[in-house]
Amino acid sequence: MPLKGRVVVNETYCKGCEVCVAACPQKVLGLAYDHITAKGYHPATLIADGCTGCGICSVVCPEAAITVYREKSGESRESEGGR
Ligand code: SF4
Ligand code: SF4
Repeated sequence: MPLKGRVVVNETYCKGCEVCVAACPQKVLGLAYDHITAKGYHPATLIADGCTGCGICSVVCPEAAITVYREKSGESRESEGGR
């Protein structure tokens, strides 16, 4: 079974820089243009299915705003981005 993933963006820290959008090999990240954060940015969000849980977005995010969750055969494990 292929790894599946999902990401949670902490909108308190996300500054809408799109570094994660550019880095995602599956091209499933985009900005949420339907709302802005408390700091006035459109935050990153999943825009399509196909996230593999590779964790690249959490590694490249300069604000460590992304948490990646990987799921395989009912298991779930967490990959924290950041420093
Ligand atoms: S790289 Fe981080 S700060 Fe930049 S848009 Fe993505 S989640 Fe937001
Ligand atoms: S974990 Fe990988 S596939 Fe999923 S959104 Fe992040 S960079 Fe894209």
